[in-house]
Amino acid sequence: MEKSGMLTISDNTRTVLERRYLKKDTEGNLEETPEELFMRVATCIAEAEGAYEDGLEPSAVAEAFYRVMTEFKFLPNSPTLMNAGNDLGQLAACFVLPVEDSLDGIFDAVKNAALIHKSGGGTGFSFSRLRAKNCRVGSTGGVASGPVSFMKIFNTATEQVKQGGTRRGANMAILRVDHPDILEFIGCKEDNEALNNFNISVGVTDAFMQAVRQGGDYDLIDPRNGEPRGSLNARTVYETLVHQAWFNGDPGIVFLDRINRDNPTPEIGEIESTNPCGEQPLLPMEACNLGSVNLSRCVVTEGGTTRVDYEALKETLWLAVRFLDDTIEMSRYPLSAIDEMVKGNRKIGLGVMGFADLLFMMGIPYNTEEAVALAEKVMGFVQAEAHEASRHLAVSRGPFPNIDKSVFKGDENRAYRNATCTTIAPTGTLSIIAGCSSGIEPVFALSFVRRVMDGDELVEVNPLFEATARARGFYSDELMARIAKVGTIAHMEEIPEDVRAVFVTAHDVSPEWHIRMQAAFQNHTDNAVSKTVNLPRQATEDEVRDIYDMAFDLCCKGVTIYRDGSKENQVLSVSDAK
Ligand code: ADP
Repeated sequence: MEKSGMLTISDNTRTVLERRYLKKDTEGNLEETPEELFMRVATCIAEAEGAYEDGLEPSAVAEAFYRVMTEFKFLPNSPTLMNAGNDLGQLAACFVLPVEDSLDGIFDAVKNAALIHKSGGGTGFSFSRLRAKNCRVGSTGGVASGPVSFMKIFNTATEQVKQGGTRRGANMAILRVDHPDILEFIGCKEDNEALNNFNISVGVTDAFMQAVRQGGDYDLIDPRNGEPRGSLNARTVYETLVHQAWFNGDPGIVFLDRINRDNPTPEIGEIESTNPCGEQPLLPMEACNLGSVNLSRCVVTEGGTTRVDYEALKETLWLAVRFLDDTIEMSRYPLSAIDEMVKGNRKIGLGVMGFADLLFMMGIPYNTEEAVALAEKVMGFVQAEAHEASRHLAVSRGPFPNIDKSVFKGDENRAYRNATCTTIAPTGTLSIIAGCSSGIEPVFALSFVRRVMDGDELVEVNPLFEATARARGFYSDELMARIAKVGTIAHMEEIPEDVRAVFVTAHDVSPEWHIRMQAAFQNHTDNAVSKTVNLPRQATEDEVRDIYDMAFDLCCKGVTIYRDGSKENQVLSVSDAK
């Protein structure tokens, strides 16, 4: 631990902040400390308070925002941390852009995506409106090259636009299952190097799922006129999709009808796509800022037992909703059409991280009924309080302007300030900054080898597991190194059985429990849930199909699977696997 002014931060937090978040001059020298970063963000966001009659004193709100962030109880998404109070001022992580069926439309989208990537946002696109490959192009007499070939242009453009010199942009491409080019799309990432800046998902409909179950054919639809244009056997397409996902994780699947059942503003448009990691369905030209509450910081320990401190959690949630609503005012969106759409619906996406840590602290194994019940309870609370806080803001600030075109029209109990309030984000980097487990995922490893810059390898142990190992007297460096090699403690008899039951990792959790946990959170989330179902390398295609079926039956909005080792350059891996 190192002190930065009054702030105590870990080495990992410091490293991430220095690499990606702290302001730097043109030569790369740091221009702010972590403390100054959080002060910059808090002050900028609280400025919005000045716009409202009811507004609390901005400096008092800034202080509260600063406190909740520096206690790592709540963090806004990365673009807010990077850009608040800076020249760019773009604060949202998630965007969806329309791709119209014309060269103008396609290249507008390429350009707009570049602007968004430059500002740290990720973009999702539905390519479903593009005419199929080999359709005639009226103006030239030639033939169209189809969605997949145009995706390559987006991919190349993304490759060239590095975000603030640190990270490349991220994209989601969605194609409806009834698009004539669906088979080409399903296979378009078979080569791991192809379309490397895209996640892809097939947009599946309820009619398609029904056709799969009945074993029948379904119509392909010409996007230009909505007319049928051939048909395919649903089961064959499903099997191809399952095979490809089994092969290397792509494509994922999104359930479009399920997503649109939760669309709060169907009069304004249909939802066709999500952001890159799938947790945020949005209308074309809509953006959303996310934020996550760290559950591992909202606990109390009394008489040796740890439980959720709901009072403290409530306080954090109300402040977080206020923060995210203020963020909408303070963000500068790259296009006026986006600004208009965002300010009309005022969607925010508040979620949680550190859920696996919470389970460790409470001694509950992730893969149990008890854990699923806790997920329902905690997220039910988060959802209810977020809605209540949003309704409260609406009393003084007004409901979101499109409310009369929404499903909440005339419903006093749901006169919200924000068309959606909750989302479960992956929190890839936020969780490192907050020093907690990411999103609602089980931890990937209890102990793993981190390669440091000079080529050395350090064994890093999950702090909660280390504390337990020391308290229970079985800690040794040798054991921790061995755990890093094997990846699981499930069969290590020298570790007490109750500890082995509680400290499960992603691979100890069966696919059924992964999906049940995702569904439990989805039950209480306005938007969607980011979750990966991890599978062992030897998992079969049948298992993948079962996961998809179960996700559909449990009303998830999408599903992403990953079979260990199925992509050559796996980001996170247990050390002996390679
Ligand atoms: P973070 O922890 O950095 O705030 P998350 O891992 O929670 O981000 O991802 C949230 C969303 O942020 C993603 O779904 C995506 O929309 C956006 N995002 C994440 N990484 C990138 C990236 N490299 N480029 C563009 N957008 C990104």
